[in-house]
Amino acid sequence: MMTTTLFDFHPVTTSRLGSVDLENPAFGSVFSDHQFRMDFADGQWSGGVIEPYGDMSLSPAAMALHYGQAIFEGMKAFRQPDGGVALFRPADNIARFNKSAERLCMPTIDEGRFLSALTELVKADRGWVPHGEGSSLYIRPFMFASEAHVGVRPSESYRFIIFTCPVGTYYKGNVKVKVETFFTRAAPGGTGYAKAAGNYAASLKPTALAREQGFDQILWTDAVEHKYIEESGTMNVMFVLDGKLVSPSLGDTVLSGVTRDSVLKIAASQGMEIEERKVPVAELKAAAESGALTEAFGVGTAATMTAIEAIGFPAETVPLGDPNGWEVMPKLAKTLDDLRRGKGEDPFGWRVVI
Ligand SMILES: *Cc1c(COP(=O)(O)O)cnc(C)c1O
Repeated sequence: MMTTTLFDFHPVTTSRLGSVDLENPAFGSVFSDHQFRMDFADGQWSGGVIEPYGDMSLSPAAMALHYGQAIFEGMKAFRQPDGGVALFRPADNIARFNKSAERLCMPTIDEGRFLSALTELVKADRGWVPHGEGSSLYIRPFMFASEAHVGVRPSESYRFIIFTCPVGTYYKGNVKVKVETFFTRAAPGGTGYAKAAGNYAASLKPTALAREQGFDQILWTDAVEHKYIEESGTMNVMFVLDGKLVSPSLGDTVLSGVTRDSVLKIAASQGMEIEERKVPVAELKAAAESGALTEAFGVGTAATMTAIEAIGFPAETVPLGDPNGWEVMPKLAKTLDDLRRGKGEDPFGWRVVI
């Protein structure tokens, strides 16, 4: 056994790196050599260990499997021009993880310790960070209730793991989205602002139905009236409306994306007018029909930006102009990508070189 600066380190005996096509990995199904693991019991977190990625044993009565105390994060590490590696705004993901934990009655994790775990893990597997254009190392921290107990109450023990996956360009193409006016992703007072596993389970059926109807994703609306736009699938959503960059305002039903915040700050710094506000479905439809809506796109860590080529309103589907001719989205995407990949200055202080 070795130790990193902070954690026990049990390295793999043989790395799997040589057997992986690092520049063309299937998204989300190739896992790096190591994981970070830390367990919570008796009111405190254990020391934390970096160990080989692998299966684990779990009681069938583990409370996460029954009552759904499970949360996660998604972030990325990027190769830098000098061959180094940088995380992007990790403090924001850590803070959001702890917000999710509080909402689900789970223990929080000391921010400094969390950042050290991320840093040490990515250092241990730095060879797994791809070099290719558009590729990166996807990082998945998560926590679940591990106590074996039947009966609804907060678990007394938890497991926290971080694993990583090299990922290539995640290009799904442009999407057609369906304005959802029956199902709900998140209700006021609910868990929509948390990255809670159950939120995603609940979105599967409405998404499957939308696919049957010829759409790729759902444009979620508010739970109360289904009159205001909230998010697009598992991404935040933005519109270029009358030349302004408009995004639904945050609240407890919208997940506060790091990409959303970054894109809004970048756009503002480039002199664009920004509006974070309620976006009525009726306004969006009128703007799509009149041509005032020139661009629409989802923003999130996994795909970064996804162009919306058509919006399915309840009565009819309205196509937007060809995304190949758009100007705002590609410019914002390029600036964000350069910031993450260490190309040029970092005026916002978002890169954390490890
Ligand atoms: C993760 C997520 C996002 C995007 O957040 P990022 O921090 O930008 O990756 C947006 N909406 C939902 C519902 C999400 O789960």
